[in-house]
This record gives sequence, C-alpha cells and structure tokens, in this order.
Amino acid sequence: MSLGPLRMPAVFFGHGSPMLALDDGPYPRAWRGIAEALPRPAAILMVSAHWCTQGLRVTGAERPATIHDFHGFPPELYALSYPAPGSAALGERVRDLLSPLPVAADRQWGLDHGTWCVLRHAYPAADIPVVQLSLDLTQPAAFHLEVGRRLRTLRESGVLIAGSGNVVHNLRAMRRDGTASAYPWATRFETAVRDALIASDEDALQRLVDHDPDARLANPTPEHLLPLLVAAGARQPGEAVAFPTSGIDMGSISMLSCIFGGND
Ligand code: ZN
Repeated sequence: MSLGPLRMPAVFFGHGSPMLALDDGPYPRAWRGIAEALPRPAAILMVSAHWCTQGLRVTGAERPATIHDFHGFPPELYALSYPAPGSAALGERVRDLLSPLPVAADRQWGLDHGTWCVLRHAYPAADIPVVQLSLDLTQPAAFHLEVGRRLRTLRESGVLIAGSGNVVHNLRAMRRDGTASAYPWATRFETAVRDALIASDEDALQRLVDHDPDARLANPTPEHLLPLLVAAGARQPGEAVAFPTSGIDMGSISMLSCIFGGND
C-alpha cells in the first residue's frame, strides 16, 4: 500500500514585536522547535498580518525582497535580511485553488516582518521557497476560513500553510512599564478562541471574531487575528490542535501559537 506524501500540518505563529527577530528567548526558540518537529516543507505559504490589500494578492517574485515595514527600531533590525527564494509556481497554484475568486499576482511585494521575523528563527537557512498571500480586511471571518479550506489540499504536497499574527493585539493598551498582568478582556478573548479551536467549532470562532463583546478591545483592527482563521480553515475535520507557545505579553499581546494536524 502506498501512503503517498506526508500531509504537512498547518501552523499559526503568534509573532509579537519585530525585536524578537534579534532575540533568542522562549518564543523564537519555540518557533524553531515547531519547525524542527515538522517534516521539511516543500514550500511555505505565509499569510501575514502585515500585508493587507483590497482583494487578494499573492507574491510572484523569484527573489522576494526583505521588507522592513516598521519604524523607530535599532539599526541591527534594518540590517537583517531573509533571502529565501519565491515560487511563482506555488503562487499560480494558489490562484487556481482560489478561483473564481480573483487573486492578483504581485511581483512587487516581498517578505514583510510578520513573515521573516518568524521564519529566520524557524527556518534559519532561508532555503525553502516562501510565498505570501495577502489579507482582504473588507471580508468577514467566514471568508478567511473559506480561503484556508480551499488551500487545504496544498498540505498534501508538503506545503506549510502558515499564519503570522496575534490572537490578541492591542498596541494602545500595551503595558510598557513592565506590568505583566494581562487585561481581563485579553485573557477572556484568548481563552474563548482557544476553546473554539479545541472544540473544532468554526461557528464559534466566526462569532468571536465578528461579534464577541471583547473582540474590538482584543483587536481594534482585525489583521493580526485573521491569519489564524486561514490556518484554521486549512485544518482537516477531526485533526488535533496543539498550542506550542502561549502567554499574554505587556497585558494585551497574545503570543499563542497553534499547530493543526501535528502528531499530538
Ligand atoms: Zn505584527
């Protein structure tokens, strides 16, 4: 009996501050651990909080540039690059799978920091092709789950479908004075998302994102949360979820990461 190629899990990385690109603390080490526990991907399809467009776009550059899309950070951070190749073929496959939904091929966008700050720890050799798919923020939660569902089959060909964002992301409320305790609404929202994922309850997940009373405080804008929905949509029915990182930093940034379809 032929078992065929191994199905790649889908992953959501809670990415936090760009400074973690320079860090060797618990979160970057955990991202490395996530990658080391997976089969080696044939390619990575990344949905980052930091590429939001009207209508969907997918990268097509052969050598995607490293984008330093942040301000006021130390020069060392701007000196970093992540020279992974792109994959026009994977971009085309994504467009085919999402058709008839229009997805523009974008040869300008490279790899934004939601992608490379995580991948430089997870896959430091930068030798696996990386393609980014944008987020269309005009669309509700159900749309992002559906995008993940339609892309799910890529996992059978060894493509790592990854989201990069944060389940709770309120920069204005951040406690920069070192006060560690999480806001009650941050803990409530993260717990509710986690519970919905454990229960494989996509309806509950949609309600949380679109209608929960804590949703607007947890995410005043939704871009850091929506990559999770794409990754969750790529989950096969019955697949387990694991949470390799968790914790709420500075009161209002959830560092929860998820693996769908791993061995545990
Ligand atoms: Zn971010």
